[in-house]
Amino acid sequence: MVEPTLPRHPFDPAFTGDDDDKLHEECGVFGVIGVADAANFVALGLHALQHRGQEAGGIVTHHPDHGFTSARRIGLVRDNFTTASVMETLPGEIGIGHVRYSTAGAKGATQIRDVQPFFGEFAMGGAAIAHNGNIVNADELRRELIEHGSIFQSSSDTECIIHLMARSLQKTIPERMKDGLRRVEGAFSIVAMTRTKLIGCRDALGVRPLVIGRVGDGYALSSETCALDIIGADYVREVAPGEMVVITDEGIESFQPFAPKKPRFCIFEHVYFSRPDSIIGGQSIYETRRQIGVELALEAPVEADLVCPVPDSGTPAAIGYSQQSGIPYAMGIIRNQYMGRTFIEPTESIRNMGVRLKLNVNRALIRGKRVILVDDSVVRGTTSRKIKEMILDAGAAEVHFRIASPPTAWPCFYGVDTPQREKLLAATMSEDEMREHLGVDSLKFISLDGLYRAVGEAKGRDPSQPAFCDACFSGDYPVAPTDQLKKGFQLLAAAE
Ligand code: SF4
Repeated sequence: MVEPTLPRHPFDPAFTGDDDDKLHEECGVFGVIGVADAANFVALGLHALQHRGQEAGGIVTHHPDHGFTSARRIGLVRDNFTTASVMETLPGEIGIGHVRYSTAGAKGATQIRDVQPFFGEFAMGGAAIAHNGNIVNADELRRELIEHGSIFQSSSDTECIIHLMARSLQKTIPERMKDGLRRVEGAFSIVAMTRTKLIGCRDALGVRPLVIGRVGDGYALSSETCALDIIGADYVREVAPGEMVVITDEGIESFQPFAPKKPRFCIFEHVYFSRPDSIIGGQSIYETRRQIGVELALEAPVEADLVCPVPDSGTPAAIGYSQQSGIPYAMGIIRNQYMGRTFIEPTESIRNMGVRLKLNVNRALIRGKRVILVDDSVVRGTTSRKIKEMILDAGAAEVHFRIASPPTAWPCFYGVDTPQREKLLAATMSEDEMREHLGVDSLKFISLDGLYRAVGEAKGRDPSQPAFCDACFSGDYPVAPTDQLKKGFQLLAAAE
């Protein structure tokens, strides 16, 4: 059987090439219990989390009369989970869902068998599971499980958890999940469900986010608070690093299945992945990003006429830079809000338009000006070069890049799609070489200490005990990437 894959189109970011130049969060997870028509809540929650994965999504619900039902689709939530014909197939007062950005195989080659939530039927009943993160010993686990008779149906690392649960001798699904997750290394924020329980769990370092909300008489679990807002849920608290919560009609039970560790939340969630209207660790993401701009202006001042964000992710940092420096903020680049698949044929001439399909320069504003462009990160540098060309074509007198993250010199193995190390500009070039390569008048990244200050660590980064995961900037991996090391990946000490 040929499985459906996402159609390629010239307006797809992957087609225009600029999608390759951003890091991508691979997943968002959401679940509810104790609400009528749970699937509608899950669909809304996933829609609010769409920035965490656009290639595919799925919803599983349970109804006492109909049992477990699921719908898994390639494409966006709004295109798949809005019609009555689909939503009526997902009855029940408990449900979970998942949005996904694929990393296995070619970009855009998501196969329906890899779309979560995954489902397992156990002696004590069924369970569905959705996972945000990445299991760094998945190859090893998969080999072992297959040798012991497990038959995998997907290429996803998440399926290992289902098979580990199947092999556990524990009597309940939450206990089996604890058992299975103790074998798993890496980053995970999990939302799972049985017929009567909504389960949330984070790895001991709490690398990826997961929050609890209260909706009517029920509860919700979500990757981010912005998805609680869309369903009118009140924020309750975060699932703590290393915590498992089991939510029923009776309320929330909390367990600590793993040996405690000092948390290392992903600092890049603050810089880029999470939506600016989300709250993490009690902090507004928007405010943190604005503060990053303030730090950047203090660390890397330059004389200029305008501060312009690279939309949309550079906007709060550009506002902070402008406020601190006193240089006027302006929208020098306008984003086409209506990017999407249209009727235009994928011709070579359209392909060559590249980033211009998505971004356009506000010429009247830019002409003759010294422009500071604020962006969230530089990955391969391809988009930065194109944007610089567009700004110079529009008659800018000078172009200065200010980047709201330190140089991204290392790949992420904890649930973010990153190019191989040699494809990362900062892995092969110094800051000066990057400036020359991009052809800009100046290029400055925020320092790691400056970034830590912006997220609330007044003393900057404590190298002996960093408060966050920052491996993509520092090469300091809080969990050894087991499978990658076996494939020859070299850690910082070995690479130097
Ligand atoms: S390596 Fe970077 S992107 Fe990955 S979890 Fe750590 S900080 Fe986040």
